[in-house]
Amino acid sequence: MTKLEIMIDQAKTIAVLGHVNPDGDCAGSCLAVYNYVQEQYADKTVTVYLEPVSEKFSYLKGYDQIQSELGKESVDLCICLDCSDQERFGKFKWYLDTAAQSICIDHHITNQGFAMEQVIDGAASSTCEVLFTQLTEEKVTKAVAECIYTGIIHDTGVFRYSNTSKKTMEIAGKMMERGIDFGSIIDDSFYRKTYLQTQILGRALFESVSFLDKKCVFTVVRKKDMDFYGVGKSDLEGIVEQLRVIDGVECAIFLYEVGVHMYKVSLRSNKKVDVSKIAVYFGGGGHMRAAGCTMSGSFHDVINNLSGHIEKQLSQET
Ligand code: 5GP
Ligand code: MN
Repeated sequence: MTKLEIMIDQAKTIAVLGHVNPDGDCAGSCLAVYNYVQEQYADKTVTVYLEPVSEKFSYLKGYDQIQSELGKESVDLCICLDCSDQERFGKFKWYLDTAAQSICIDHHITNQGFAMEQVIDGAASSTCEVLFTQLTEEKVTKAVAECIYTGIIHDTGVFRYSNTSKKTMEIAGKMMERGIDFGSIIDDSFYRKTYLQTQILGRALFESVSFLDKKCVFTVVRKKDMDFYGVGKSDLEGIVEQLRVIDGVECAIFLYEVGVHMYKVSLRSNKKVDVSKIAVYFGGGGHMRAAGCTMSGSFHDVINNLSGHIEKQLSQET
């Protein structure tokens, strides 16, 4: 039995948590654990607590069972997934604070290990990849495989990012062997956009500004723009990724306004900039090639502050 299975075995009630603003790896890993426990440990009560998850993941089994409100009872075991620091559980941190046991499964290099037990692999493509090593392979059903495959494709940008390894591909291959409809999973959850999402993407790209000798590019979406198009934060996915693939760009920055003089920052880099260091400096976290934080000031202030750090890193590399 793995560390995770031993802990599940010893618990009766289990809460599964992931980070705020859940993405494919977060939703995929949480629902993979949910389905695994439901299928293999029928006597346990397992509940996933997440902020509302985008409907594009509604094909995942258990999606309708995700709870967005805090319950009243503490649990025997809290399983923490894809979350680099405990503040990013939002209100659901209460389950971690009150649980008798806790385990954290993650792939963020910035994760310091806040649970009682940790399985953290900073070299893994995704939490789903780490999670797979904590499950018994023969017990991974098609429903669990759909969740794991979803997490892997989202955190690797469909096997494009440098975090994709031979092991990532081997696990994805094993998931395909379960008979999942991988083509539809990729199209429906990764590439498909609504008309409004496409419009705001177009506008954000049109208004982007390049700087530092075209090695950096940023764009910003303001609250009034979001209100105008009637879109929420989950509709802004993919904008920073499109900036990253601009010819010659080393570092891409996407900002959206979350409050008065307050911006959520997404950073992406190609080869030369370690954006996790910059995000950590400003109180956030993430990975070398993809990281984020929340910063205050006007958007000019935010870009100026980030720019100093990027420039320093670019000048240091030979
Ligand atoms: P994204 O730009 O897609 O929101 O996030 C990129 C990566 O950085 C993800 O792995 C995400 O978990 C991490 N990240 C984004 N924002 C924050 C933040 O405010 N704090 C921490 N610790 N990590 C973040
Ligand atoms: Mn992840």
